[in-house]
Amino acid sequence: MTAEPVIDRHDSPTTAGTPSTVRASLSPSRAADFKTCPLLYRFRSIDRLPERPTVEQARGTLVHAVLERLFDLPAAARTPQSAGDLVAPQWDRLVTEQPELATLFAADDPAGAAEFLRSAAALLQGYFAVEDPRRLEPAEREALISAVVDEELLIRGYLDRLDVAPDGALRVVDYKTGGAPREAFEARALFQLKFYALVLWRTRGVVPRVLRLLYLKDAEVCDYTPDAEELLRFERTVVALWQAIEQATARQDFRPRPSRLCDWCSHQALCPSFGGTPPPFPAAGAGDPLTDARSRPVAPGADE
Ligand code: SF4
Repeated sequence: MTAEPVIDRHDSPTTAGTPSTVRASLSPSRAADFKTCPLLYRFRSIDRLPERPTVEQARGTLVHAVLERLFDLPAAARTPQSAGDLVAPQWDRLVTEQPELATLFAADDPAGAAEFLRSAAALLQGYFAVEDPRRLEPAEREALISAVVDEELLIRGYLDRLDVAPDGALRVVDYKTGGAPREAFEARALFQLKFYALVLWRTRGVVPRVLRLLYLKDAEVCDYTPDAEELLRFERTVVALWQAIEQATARQDFRPRPSRLCDWCSHQALCPSFGGTPPPFPAAGAGDPLTDARSRPVAPGADE
């Protein structure tokens, strides 16, 4: 197994600088989709079926946006009050950028929208219960990181935050805002964090010391410490996963795998496990894997 470093900064999902051997890219969200349910992967990555945002996803997107902006402020100003003051302007910005978010609340339901903003502010209070942002200077926020593994697979994803200690130790931080039962999503969240850890290890030569999940609703912290052997195994898993995706694509065979996560799936009406019929397999297949428009969730926090 070999790996070459490639790192793209922030919101530029470019393939510039990518070795010519690279044939495909895979994000943690899409990899986790295939692991969870191959048919879900197909619906999202090949059929690219639209998914109407839910209030919960929108709240996650908003909270992520506020937490990113919070660190633009001088350290002393990163207070609960400042975070609360960012909620409404960030929501206005998101609605401007993603007009479909405006459809979540009826025009004649200002109380619904106001309650939504209040619930986002409440989640931010959960954040302040577990961290003091005045004591932190993140090295990266909402950063796109990527690495090539197995010479031909580009793995990439946006991490919420990366902290670098004075001794060079890395801590990957992921904010979780979902209200769904945590156990239903924890394996997926850890998979995502290991994905980032693998990219960082391959690009910086350092195994992150801590992978941290911050559960804002419960105001809880879940830390995980990976090691190089585990990441090597994980790399093999990711490559095997990609090979399985390629085989399924060649056979046009993506089977449903029902689980508790079906309750959060937007595509039950098309799923044979729920009496539906998938649309015909797209003639163009997955298209150009290097321009996978769905390699990022619709917005930070949107896939929780
Ligand atoms: S409803 Fe469940 S089994 Fe069907 S596509 Fe969605 S996640 Fe897969």
